[in-house]
Amino acid sequence: MAQILIVEDEARIASFIAKGLRAEGHQPQVVSDGPSGLDEALSGHYDLMVLDIGLPGMDGFEVLDQLRSQGSRIPVIILTARDSVSDTVTGLDSGADDYMAKPFRFAELMARIRLRLRTVSSGGGASFEDELVVQGIRLDRRTRRVTTPRGEEELSAREFTLAEMFFLTPGQVLTREQLLSRVWGYDFD
Ligand code: CA
Repeated sequence: MAQILIVEDEARIASFIAKGLRAEGHQPQVVSDGPSGLDEALSGHYDLMVLDIGLPGMDGFEVLDQLRSQGSRIPVIILTARDSVSDTVTGLDSGADDYMAKPFRFAELMARIRLRLRTVSSGGGASFEDELVVQGIRLDRRTRRVTTPRGEEELSAREFTLAEMFFLTPGQVLTREQLLSRVWGYDFD
């Protein structure tokens, strides 16, 4: 379980991310403007920050810049609609750890969050299980390989994410809504 700060002014996207993170067992906190995002990130309470670029008060690049110049090393994943190469480079140059262009699928964001948290805990794997096993079927989340008693199965990326969802909640019924929003993303129409 990780404390994750979401700085995003679009309520729909913020709540979509927060809901998904909660479902994965994390504790998300949402703020919707740049200055509050910077304050919260500097509080030292968080393991990771998801940071939008277009924000009221102060844009994401400036938040990141101030954060790094004040010595914070919190992992930051930038979210932005501006998916041009130059923005990516600006973001990574100013100290972001990763980058996601909107619209994105929740599963993709989760994969990146997982990777960043794992990097921080230096392979300790405290927050995540790398391998999920249900009734003799193994999902290796690191290599995305699936092994059954009959051998290895080939799954597409989406099939793997679906399988992961079921393996994380064995015995539970998941609604169509839950599957759509968690596997296909908030723009699943
Ligand atoms: Ca925005």
